[in-house]
Amino acid sequence: MNAPADPEALQRAERQAQVVAALKPLLPQGALIWHAEDTTPYECDGLTAYRQRPLVVALPESEQQVQAVLKACHALRVPVVARGAGTGLSGGALPHALGVTLSLAKFNAIQQIDPVARTALVQCGVRNLAISEAAASYGLYYAPDPSSQIACTIGGNIAENSGGVHCLKYGLTVHNVLKIRGYNAAGEPVEFGSDALDAPGYDLLSIVIGSEGMLAVAVEVTVKLIPKPQLARCIMASFDDMRKAGDVVAAVIAAGIIPAGLEMMDKPMTAAVEDFVHAGYDLTAEAILLCESDGTNEEVEEEIGRMSAVLREGGATAIAVSRDEAERLRFWSGRKNAFPASGRISPDYMCMDSTIPRKRLADILLAIQEMEKKYQLRCANVFHAGDGNLHPLILFDANDADQLHRCELFGADILETSVAMGGTVTGEHGVGIEKLNSMCVQFSPEELEQMRGVKRAFDPEQLLNPGKVVPTLNRCAEYGKMLVRGGRIAHPDLPRF
Ligand SMILES: Cc1cc2nc3c(=O)[nH]c(=O)nc-3n(C[C@H](O)[C@H](O)[C@H](O)COP(=O)(O)OP(=O)(O)OC[C@H]3O[C@@H](n4cnc5c(N)ncnc54)[C@H](O)[C@@H]3O)c2cc1C
Repeated sequence: MNAPADPEALQRAERQAQVVAALKPLLPQGALIWHAEDTTPYECDGLTAYRQRPLVVALPESEQQVQAVLKACHALRVPVVARGAGTGLSGGALPHALGVTLSLAKFNAIQQIDPVARTALVQCGVRNLAISEAAASYGLYYAPDPSSQIACTIGGNIAENSGGVHCLKYGLTVHNVLKIRGYNAAGEPVEFGSDALDAPGYDLLSIVIGSEGMLAVAVEVTVKLIPKPQLARCIMASFDDMRKAGDVVAAVIAAGIIPAGLEMMDKPMTAAVEDFVHAGYDLTAEAILLCESDGTNEEVEEEIGRMSAVLREGGATAIAVSRDEAERLRFWSGRKNAFPASGRISPDYMCMDSTIPRKRLADILLAIQEMEKKYQLRCANVFHAGDGNLHPLILFDANDADQLHRCELFGADILETSVAMGGTVTGEHGVGIEKLNSMCVQFSPEELEQMRGVKRAFDPEQLLNPGKVVPTLNRCAEYGKMLVRGGRIAHPDLPRF
C-alpha cells in the first residue's frame, strides 16, 4: 500500500516543477539545479546549525540571465535568496523552502583597476582578497578585510556591511564602496551611489549596504582603493586580568591613537589558536591584545612608542613588537585563524557578533564568564576590541538538541546583555535569521515598522530574502511573552524562524 501523500511535499514538488519549467529556458545547460544531491551544498551558510534545501538553485553567467531569473520569479511570486560564497554567519543566505537560491558565484571578474581614481570595478562574486591582489601591482589595496576574505565575495560584504581588523582605522564596507549596480526584485536595473564622492538625492547606497540581500541584488560594485602603507608593525601585549585588558582598549583610543588594528583574545581562544598555528602567544595571559600601527617609518615608530606606553600604564605584563614582516604576520596568524581553531576544539561553534561601547568591554566579558556557568557551555572570545565588536564563540555539539537549545539561549543572552550595556545586536555579521528575536529587544515596534516600510518601498511583494532581518509583529509579541522584566529570557521555547 502506498504511504499517504504529504501535502507539504506535494506542494513543494508542484512548485518546483513550475519554477524549473519557467527558469530552464533562461539559463545555459547545467546552470539550474534542483535534485537534492545537487542542492544540498546550498542548504546552509556559515551558521551550520540551521539548514534548508532550496527549491532550485540558479547559477546565471550574465546580467541578462540574472534579470530574466528575477523577472520570472517575480511573475510567479517565488522568493529569491541571493548567495555569494555562503560564508555568512547569521543565516542570511539560508535558502527559502519554496524559493530560488540565486548564486552569484560566476560573477567573478575584476573589470577594471583605475590607479588614478584609486578605484576598482568588480563583479559581485569577486572574492574580497582578490581585489587587493589585483591592485597590489599599483601599490594599492582594498581596506575592509574580513577574516574570511580568502573566500567571501564583495556582494556578500556589501549585503552584510562587513568589517575586519583594519576597519577601525579605514572604515567598514560602507565607507569603502562608491557605487553598486544591480536589479530589484522585479528584475529592473537599479544603481546606488556614483563614481564621484557623493551622489544627489537620498543616500540609498548606505541603505542598500547592510540590507542583507533584501532590497536588491548587486551585480557590479565600484570600491575605493587606498595606498599600501610603507610599513606596518604589530604589538602583542599580555594581561593577567580581563578587566585591565578591556579598560586599556578604551585608554588607547582616549589617548588619541587610532591603531590600524586593535584586537583581543581571551585565554581559551589563545590556547586554541596557539595549538593550531603556533603564533607564539603567551599561554599564561588571561587576555592578549594585538595593536597594529601603519604609515611611514617615522609615524609607525612614534605610534608604537605611544601605544606601548599606554599598554604598560594599563598593566600589560609583557609586550612584544614585531621586528619584521614575517613576525607581524605570525602575530596575526593566530587571530586570523581563531574560527577554524575553535572548530578543532569543539564539534560546533556559534559565533555571536554584538557591539558594545568600548568602555564596557571588561563588563561584558565578565558577564559572559557567568553565562558559561549558567548555560553549562564553554565560550572562547575573540574580537575587534577597538570597534567594541565582540565575537564570543559558544562551543557546543549540534547533534545534541539540548546543547543547541542552551547555545541559542546563551547567544540571545549575550546579544541582549549587549543592548542593556548600550550596544547593538550586530556588529558586522548581520541579523539574518540568527538575531531575529533579539531585534525585538533592540528596537521598538515603531522602529521595526519603519524598517518594514523601507522593505516595502524596494520590494512590495516581499520576494527578496523574505523572513530575514526584520521580525514580524507576531514574532516580537511571542518573544516578548518569554522575557521577564529586565529583558532576561524566561521561557525555554524560543520562537524559531
Ligand atoms: C571563518 C569566518 C570568518 C569571518 N570573519 C568575518 C570578519 O572578520 N568580518 C565580517 O564582517 N564577517 C566575517 N565573516 C562572515 C562572512 O564571511 C561575511 O558576512 C561575508 O561578507 C559574507 O560573504 P559571502 O560572499 O560568503 O556571502 P553569503 O554568505 O553568500 O551571503 C551573505 C548575505 O549576502 C547576501 N548576498 C550575497 N551576495 C549578494 C549580492 N550579490 N546581492 C545582494 N545580496 C547578496 C545574501 O543573500 C546573504 O543575505 C566570517 C565568516 C567566516 C566563516
